[in-house]
Formats: sequence, structure tokens, C-alpha cells
Amino acid sequence: MSTADRDMWDEETDVVVVGFGGAGAAAAIAARQAGAEVLVLEKMPDPGGLTIVSAGGVRIAFDRAAALSYLEATCAGRTPRAPLEALADGMVAAPDWLRELAEPLGATVTVTPSPGNYPFPGYEALGYAAITEVPGLETPPHAASKLTDGGRLFHALEAAARRKGARIVTDAPVRRLLTGPDRAVTGLLAEIDGRTVRVRARRGVVLACGGFETGEALKRDHFQAIPVLAGSFLGNSGDGIAMAQDVGAALWHMWHYHGPYGLRHSDPAYPYAFYLKALPMWTPGPAGHSSALGLPAGTKKEPARVAWILVDQTGRRFMDEYPPYPGDTGIRPLDAFDPKTQSFPRIPARLILDENGRRLYPIGRSIANGRAPVHEWSADNLREIELGILRRADNLAELAAQTGIPESTLADTLARWNAACREGHDHDHGRRPDSMVPIDTPPFYHAEAWPIVINTQGGPVHDPLQRVLTPFGEPIPRLFAAGELGSVFGHLYLSGGNLAECLVGGRIAGQQAAAPIPANPILPASPVPA
Ligand SMILES: Cc1cc2nc3c(=O)[nH]c(=O)nc-3n(C[C@H](O)[C@H](O)[C@H](O)COP(=O)(O)OP(=O)(O)OC[C@H]3O[C@@H](n4cnc5c(N)ncnc54)[C@H](O)[C@@H]3O)c2cc1C
Repeated sequence: MSTADRDMWDEETDVVVVGFGGAGAAAAIAARQAGAEVLVLEKMPDPGGLTIVSAGGVRIAFDRAAALSYLEATCAGRTPRAPLEALADGMVAAPDWLRELAEPLGATVTVTPSPGNYPFPGYEALGYAAITEVPGLETPPHAASKLTDGGRLFHALEAAARRKGARIVTDAPVRRLLTGPDRAVTGLLAEIDGRTVRVRARRGVVLACGGFETGEALKRDHFQAIPVLAGSFLGNSGDGIAMAQDVGAALWHMWHYHGPYGLRHSDPAYPYAFYLKALPMWTPGPAGHSSALGLPAGTKKEPARVAWILVDQTGRRFMDEYPPYPGDTGIRPLDAFDPKTQSFPRIPARLILDENGRRLYPIGRSIANGRAPVHEWSADNLREIELGILRRADNLAELAAQTGIPESTLADTLARWNAACREGHDHDHGRRPDSMVPIDTPPFYHAEAWPIVINTQGGPVHDPLQRVLTPFGEPIPRLFAAGELGSVFGHLYLSGGNLAECLVGGRIAGQQAAAPIPANPILPASPVPA
């Protein structure tokens, strides 16, 4: 190594992990276990990303072949078999990995059989694992709004990464990858303490910096629906996608995101969309509904009765408001484009309920990781009415005046809905009868309903070793990706699948990145862009 080459770097280590959520933590632990020196750079002041506020359900499998069948069906030919095989293997091993993580903390790992979300081959051989109790951990770690099993999982991951000696730096956004003459990734540029720092990665770089829930330009380019509101976290803006593209990565699954419909705050400064409490976001079972996390299939954790209907801008219902997996595909009917009017008549759609529905339960909720104060939804929804998040209309005429929908159409839509409730049969959209609630008791309440992204699936293509590939299928030397950044899920999501990918892909990426490079030449960095 020449002095000149050495002088090009401000810092060096074996492996740099970009992002400290679930995947980054799993990669850091695995790279340390493989004997590498590890530096983790996290953009936000607090670590945890989406992982820390997730429900913490990790998809596991009791049978490898069945898991592979399910994964192939849920990806519908949009993902090659080899990375799915690696995930299926990891899903079988995941409960033991979780127990390893939990053991030093005396934490409890719960493993529950719970079928896949859709009735695809193999669905019955799946389950969840979660860290459901950590002694002494009672408040949310870091800036998470709630202590969930995701918080417990991240706590265990963070503790293991620190115990094993990974160096973790927060407030340290990574800006660019640096490459050598053979296109190998040799290091990166990051902002640390207000300085631009060149960090050499002697062995490899793992991109684990999440998706693009707040990447507005990427969402505009890849999603049909506009806008799609971010639900829980502001730090994932697609930085890893730009960095990977810059060094020649191919992308996959960019159109695919996981999301329901939901509400937004009347204060435009409030950064998070509201999820609707009655809509399971991530864990329903295949028979239509609900094997809630940690409970046997068929048990219902969320309120099954859905207090509202949704209408489009002409005042007509257009979907089953409680589809088989609302948190996965609940958004999809909203993004229908009308070629005749050249518009999206369901963005926003309108949610309508009545006085009885208002009294049923808190309609919305915020689940967030961030330092901004989080809105606590009131039990009777009255605070939200005061704030204008929900609007009150004393009668149909007022509802019509406030929404711009003709009163006769609203009267017709509600009459049809109330008749369906009496009959116990939704002839129009097949909503399950036990979710149906009549809307016949003024005052009425309404709000605009918008597409929400829980998390994205798109990003750089990777192989079973988590190596990032070019459009010609060649690995970019020393570059790995893990977690929801380039998820394998390319068609329909499998609840718990993203955290499974964090653990499985993160471990593989960390092990691979830590492998010593035979000749291990010191490669110069590429020129720094101005
Ligand atoms: C409410 C909710 C519940 C969920 N429940 C489940 C569940 O039960 N099971 C499941 O499987 N999935 C669930 N998900 C999805 C799952 O949480 C995420 O897909 C997963 O946690 C993503 O992990 P990750 O490590 O890839 O990204 P994250 O955990 O989001 O971590 C990425 C990190 O990278 C950082 N970063 C971004 N850019 C940079 C940069 N330039 N430099 C440095 N750092 C950067 C971010 O700040 C962030 O900390 C849920 C999601 C939500 C919102």
C-alpha cells in the first residue's frame, strides 16, 4: 500500500454496514462473528428504523419445501428461485437464531404456528417467532412511539451488536459508495460530525438502509398512485437505491409496496399518516381473516367490526373495505385510474361513518419512530373531530355540502349499504358479514382516505449470497444488500417476511462481507464528486 493510497482515506475498517435497523444489526453481528472489524453508520439520531416500531413478527417455517412453495407462489415468478431458497432455509433456522439473541437478556421467544396470508401451497407450514418479553424493558427504546415486539427484537439485536464489538455511529448519513478500477466497492463517503469522511472498507459494504417510504421522487416514478403517505418513519428515503444504482446495480420490485388506506392529520406539518385501527396491518390468516400475531389462526386481536364505508369522489362504494389482508393490498383498489376522466377518482377516497360507529373504538392510530411528538388518538374520537381530522355533518344535506357529493347519491349509497347490513350480505363487494356496521344514525363523520405505504419492497437485485447484481447478473465486487432494500417480495407480501429477510439476508450479507479478500489489495477510491 502506497502512502498516497493510505492518505486517500480518513478511516478504515473491514466491513461498513449502512443503516442500523434490523438488517443492519443482523449484518453487523454476523460480520463480527466472522472476525471482521465492523463500523455501522446510521443516518438518524436514533437507530432502529422501521424495525423498532414494527410488530416484531418474524416469519418462520416448520418445513423448508413448503416454505419454498409458498414463497414462489407469493412472488408469482417475479423473483428467481435461488434467493427464495436461501430465505426458506433461513426461515427454518430463524427460531434458533432468535433464541441465541434472546438468551443473554433472559428474554422470551414465542413460536406460534400461523398460516401464510393467502391460501397458497405450503401456507399451513408457516408460523411466527417473536421476542415477546425482555425483563426490565418496559418503555420504548430510543424514539419509538410504542414498545412493540419489534422494539424488543431491535433491543436484542442492538445489544448483541454492541456486545460483539461493532462500532455504531448515529447521525452519520452515508452519501456515496466509492469504487476501485475493477468496480469493486472500496469504501464510502459519509457525513460524520458535520464533516465529509472517506471510510475505507477493507472487505465489503453492506447496504441495509431500508426502502423509500419518504423518497418522493422514487414514489412518483415507480408507483401509479400519487400521493402515497408514509406511515411510521422519515429516515428511509431511498438513499441505498441511488447509491447502488450509481455503481451499476440493477433494481427489482420497485412498484411493490405494502400498505393500507388511512387518514392524514389536519395539520400538514404532522409527519405521519394515521393507520386505521380496525384494519390488520400485517398478520391476518388465509381464510380471509386474521391469525393475529402470536395468536392461533382465527383469533382476532383487532376489532373486527369496521365502522365505515369508503366511497369514491362520485359517492359510490368501490371496494371491500376489509379485504383479506388490508395492510398488504388495501391500497391497491385506490390507485385505479379512470381513462375517461384522466383522473384517480379514489385518491382521496372518502371514509364515512355515523354516531354509532364513532362510539365503537378509536378510529385511527400513529405508530412512529422519530423525535417529533406523536398524536395519541382519543378513545371516543372527539379530539380528532375537534382538530378536523374527522369532520362532523349533522345530516345528509350537510354531508353532501361538505364533501361535494350529491345528496341523492349519498342517500342511495347509504340505503344500499344499510340494506346489505340487514341482509348480512354485501352483494356489491363481498365484505365479510361480521365486519359490517350500518350507517344510519346521524350525525355522520367523514374524512379523506389516502394510500399509505407501510414499507417498500424495491431496491437493488441480489443473489442468494446477498451480493448486489448488475443488469447483466454479475455481482458488484464487495457490495451486499439486506432487509427491505431490494426485498424478494415481488407480488404479494407474506406478513413477517420483511423481518425474516432482515435476519436471514442480514446474516448472510454480514458473513459474506466479512470474508477476507484473498490478495486484499488496497484499491484507491474513485474521485469525490463535487
Ligand atoms: C407499523 C409496522 C409494523 C410492521 N410489522 C412487521 C412485522 O411484524 N413483521 C415484519 O416482517 N415486518 C413488519 N413491518 C415491516 C418491517 O418493519 C420493515 O420492512 C423492516 O423492519 C425493515 O428493516 P430494515 O433493516 O431493512 O430497515 P429499517 O429498520 O427501516 O432500517 C434502515 C435504517 O437505515 C437508515 N438509513 C437510511 N438511509 C441511510 C443512509 N444514507 N445512511 C445511513 N443510514 C441510513 C435508516 O435511518 C434506518 O435506521 C412493519 C412495518 C411497520 C411500519
